[in-house]
Amino acid sequence: MTLPSFHRVPDNAQTKTVPSDIRARNIMAAFNLLFPSTTMSRSELGKRLGLSRMATTDVTGEMLDDRIIREVGEDTRSGRGKRSVLLGIDTSYWRIISIDLSQHYVIKGALTDLGGRIIDRLEIPVEDDVMPFDPIIDAAKRLLTMSPQPVLGIGLAVPGVVTPEGNVTSAVQLGWKNIDASTLLHEATELPVCVCNATNMALLAERFFGEGSDNSMLIRIGAGVGASLCVNGQIVEGDHYMAGEIGHVVVDPEGPACACGKRGCLEAYLSTNNLYAQIAADPSRRSEILTGAGQLLGRVMATPLALLNLHDVSIDAPADIGGETFLNAMGGELSAAMNTAYMTIPQLHRCQVGADASLRGQAISIIRWLVPYIRNFEEQPK
Ligand SMILES: [Zn+2]
Repeated sequence: MTLPSFHRVPDNAQTKTVPSDIRARNIMAAFNLLFPSTTMSRSELGKRLGLSRMATTDVTGEMLDDRIIREVGEDTRSGRGKRSVLLGIDTSYWRIISIDLSQHYVIKGALTDLGGRIIDRLEIPVEDDVMPFDPIIDAAKRLLTMSPQPVLGIGLAVPGVVTPEGNVTSAVQLGWKNIDASTLLHEATELPVCVCNATNMALLAERFFGEGSDNSMLIRIGAGVGASLCVNGQIVEGDHYMAGEIGHVVVDPEGPACACGKRGCLEAYLSTNNLYAQIAADPSRRSEILTGAGQLLGRVMATPLALLNLHDVSIDAPADIGGETFLNAMGGELSAAMNTAYMTIPQLHRCQVGADASLRGQAISIIRWLVPYIRNFEEQPK
């Protein structure tokens, strides 16, 4: 099997970067139209792709051969004439391994199908404060043996800063600095590996399986606070792959001390640890505390949101933190700050994909990276 690179390529939620040849581009364009669960006839697909009938037959023929798509039934919408066959993603053959390290003290792993649906899963608890790499390799190998179907590649979602080569330059929660996760996993498994930022992957999952759009933001509130941004279908990673690292931006220089050494960081106010501690100290103030937290986030995010004119913002937080009280308070503050005769605030909603968001987003990333190369996987022993 030959791949141009086993490393991550920059993610693009709309028109994934693919090799320059026309064949791969057509396959990816057809795949994008059908992913994750759209069905279409050959002629409709050809029309949408701007391809001739013969070219459409070629592209779909190859994708059927490679088990990327399959015939899923007949179009029952039109009553007259010969009914056309509908095509959809083939979820019965290829499998993807996705691993998420964004939850404390646990390695979450899953096998997914080509539509990003979880088929099987495992969790490995980890006691160490610094995440060891061996159990991650162990998780990947166990998932590989759990799959009766051929596996395309492995994705690893990391709560930290990741370069396009899959090097984790910093992940405070894992105690990692300059860990070449992509090479370590690839050498242990010989499969293509893609390492990505976990919040970016949650945004990707929300885009395809939740309520996210091509112009959206996801704000994750947990032990830390971070955001991910998608503009015109493209995840924005920033000059040093740190876009969205808003947790240690000072919102009040007189505020409480933060673990980073500064005072009044956004995280010092909004981390779940802080909010839970405040609520535990005085449960009768719960609503007031969550209202204050939502208002603070609304106030802080109004300017960047006006700057970007996004369609929607999803809040990825535990249900007892990022619920209705928090969202209403944040929305109220955003409206007061942003609404004018010509501008309204983006739609504000809870992340719909839930606890598996990073796991499923990471699978999407691998799928969209490797689909154009599936032809090269044919000789994989399984
Ligand atoms: Zn800080």
